[in-house]
Amino acid sequence: MEEVQKKKFTGGIHPKDNKELSSGSAIQNAPLFEKYHVILCQHIGAPPKLVVKTGDTVKKGQMIAEPGGFVSAPVHSPTSGTIGKIFDVPGPSGVNQEAVEIIADGQDEWGSGLDPIPDWQNTAPEVLKERIAKAGIVGMGGAAFPTHVKLSPPPAKKIDTLILNGAECEPYLTADHRLMLERPEAILEGASIMARVLGIKNVYIGIESNKPDAIAGLNAKSEPYKVNVVTLKVRYPQGGEKQLIYAVTGRKVPQGMLPMDAGCVVQNVGTAAAIYDAVTQGRPLVERVTTVTGEPVVNPGNWLVRIGTPIADVIRLAGGVSRTPGKVILGGPMMGFAQKSLEVPVMKNTSGILLLDQVDTVQFTSQPCIRCGKCIDNCPMDLLCGTISCFIENEKFDKAEELHVMDCLECGACAYDCPAHRPLVQHVRRAKAEIRARKAKQNPK
Ligand code: SF4
Ligand code: SF4
Repeated sequence: MEEVQKKKFTGGIHPKDNKELSSGSAIQNAPLFEKYHVILCQHIGAPPKLVVKTGDTVKKGQMIAEPGGFVSAPVHSPTSGTIGKIFDVPGPSGVNQEAVEIIADGQDEWGSGLDPIPDWQNTAPEVLKERIAKAGIVGMGGAAFPTHVKLSPPPAKKIDTLILNGAECEPYLTADHRLMLERPEAILEGASIMARVLGIKNVYIGIESNKPDAIAGLNAKSEPYKVNVVTLKVRYPQGGEKQLIYAVTGRKVPQGMLPMDAGCVVQNVGTAAAIYDAVTQGRPLVERVTTVTGEPVVNPGNWLVRIGTPIADVIRLAGGVSRTPGKVILGGPMMGFAQKSLEVPVMKNTSGILLLDQVDTVQFTSQPCIRCGKCIDNCPMDLLCGTISCFIENEKFDKAEELHVMDCLECGACAYDCPAHRPLVQHVRRAKAEIRARKAKQNPK
C-alpha cells in the first residue's frame, strides 16, 4: 500500500544530488580478483577474533573471524582460496587496521556451513535471529551496527514498527536505488523476516520522491508482504533514523533517546536484502552493492563487489578516471570519509566510492563564527551547532556535551552553507571521541 509522509522534520537542506551520473546504471557483478584484503573489524562493537591462519584453505562464505561478544559480528571469506598474510591495511578512518589476505583459487566455491531456511515463516524467531548473527549482517547504510543486536530490544521497550530506510538522501549515491529496482522481492521478504523476529505487523519502507520508479516497483510487489511504501519529500537528511521515524509515523524520538524509545526499529534496504540471502540461501554477508561515481569517473555506475576488494580495483571497474580527482570519499559527500589511500578495501558499509574534482571540494577554514545562525536553521536535530563548535574549539567538551553534541548525526547540513566555512562536523567528531574517551577512563571495564 502506498502512503505519503505524515510529518516533515525541521531544518535540513537541498544539496544538488548528482544522482543522474549513476542511477541509470544497472548493478554489474564485479569479476573475481586474485586477492582480497578483508578487514577484521567492520562493525560497531567488540572486534571479532581470527579463526584462520596463513596457509589455511577456505570456501566462499566460510567464517574467518568469530564474534568477540554479543555486540559483534563474524567475518567471512569473500571467495574460496588460501589465507595469505595477516597484516595491517589502511582503513576507511585513515588508521591502519588488521586484515586477512584471501588468495582466490578461481573456483569461487561456496561453503558457508549455513543451510537455507526456506520455511522461515514457520521457524522460531530466535532461530532466525541467530542466523542473522551468524551471517555477519550489520547495518549496511552507514553505521555498521550488528543487526541481530538491533533486533534484540530490551523487554521493557515495546517495539511495534519496523521502518526500512530507502531514502538514500546522500547526494551521488544510487546503490540502494538500484537494489530497490532490481531486488524488490528480496528487500520485502527480508523485511518480513525481520518483522517475524520482532513479532510485529507494522512495516514501512520510506523512499524519497526522487525515486518514483523504485516507489512504483516496490508498491506493485508489496501486497503479499504487507509492507507499506511511504513516499518522502526530498530533503537532506531524510534518511536520518529520527527524521525517518518522524516522517513515517509522526513520532518524535526525544534528545538523548533511541528509535526503540519511540517503538521503532530502522534498517537499511540493503540490510533487508542481505537478511533474505542469509536466511533463504544460507549466504553470509560477503558482497554488497557499491556506487562508483563522481565527475572524474569514466563510467560511473553500481557494482556488486566482494567485501575486501581494494577501492583502486573498484574504480578500475568503472573505467578509471579521466582526470586526477581532488578527493576520494568512501560514502557520500555529506557524511562520507575522505581517503588518502586507494588500498582501503570495501567494507560491509561501503555504500559508495565518490571521486570529486578539486573545484567541488569544500575547503574548511578556521575563520571565526559570525553568529549568522544558518547552521542552526539547517540542523535537523535542533542543535546549537555554531555555539557547540566554538566550545569545542576552546576544548570545553563538557559544555558541548551539555548542548547535546552526542545527538549530532554528523550529517553536515550545518557546514553546508556556513559563510565562515567552519569545519563543524570535524569539531563534532573530535568532541565525541574526546567525551567517549573520558567516559571510558572514568568507567574502565
Ligand atoms: S553558519 Fe557558520 S558562521 Fe553562521 S553561526 Fe553557524 S558556524 Fe557561525
Ligand atoms: S550539528 Fe550535527 S545534526 Fe546538526 S546539522 Fe550539524 S552535523 Fe547535522
